[in-house]
Amino acid sequence: MAAPVITAAALNSRTGRKILTGALLILALVAALLLTPLLAIPFALAGSAASTVPTKVETASVASGEWGFPLGGGYSKGRGFGYNPVQGCGYCSTNHQGYDMAQGCGATIYSAGPGRVITAGSWQGYGNTVRIDHGGELVTLYGHMQWGSLHVSVGDQVAAGAPLGAEGNTGKSFGCHLHFEVQKSGTPVDPEPFMASQGLQLK
Ligand SMILES: [Zn+2]
Repeated sequence: MAAPVITAAALNSRTGRKILTGALLILALVAALLLTPLLAIPFALAGSAASTVPTKVETASVASGEWGFPLGGGYSKGRGFGYNPVQGCGYCSTNHQGYDMAQGCGATIYSAGPGRVITAGSWQGYGNTVRIDHGGELVTLYGHMQWGSLHVSVGDQVAAGAPLGAEGNTGKSFGCHLHFEVQKSGTPVDPEPFMASQGLQLK
């Protein structure tokens, strides 16, 4: 009980108050000096972490620049372009005009590039289909989407990465997948080299 007595006594004289104020200032200084390194450590750690760990780029969208993948994230490759009949499917085309890719029934399908929607609905054997005119006689086609899943209508302007609909099994399809087709001047071309020319490597 010595300290309160001394404090009480000190407060009773002007000199005592000065001494007490001085002591408190010294205590505050010492505390600040002791705490400074402790406070500095987390900042130093954060600083070193930021300088040594490479910056991770988060891709919020499927698009990279002007063009992007029609499915976000991983997918399994189905039939590529050209002659490759589907085993056990009599109604499936033998000379495949597009590139089949699957992520799962209901997966969101995105516009691969910017353009204007020219088809949104049932189209030939492709089931629920979206076609986008990118100008320069370049058209992309997204086939077999689920009925009632389309987010776009004919005439809509879309950007790369715009959601179009959901992966489905409509039309001449043999299990949920996206039939992705690229047409130049009305003729289907192999989507793989086309996408590669946009810096997007399909499997
Ligand atoms: Zn296909």
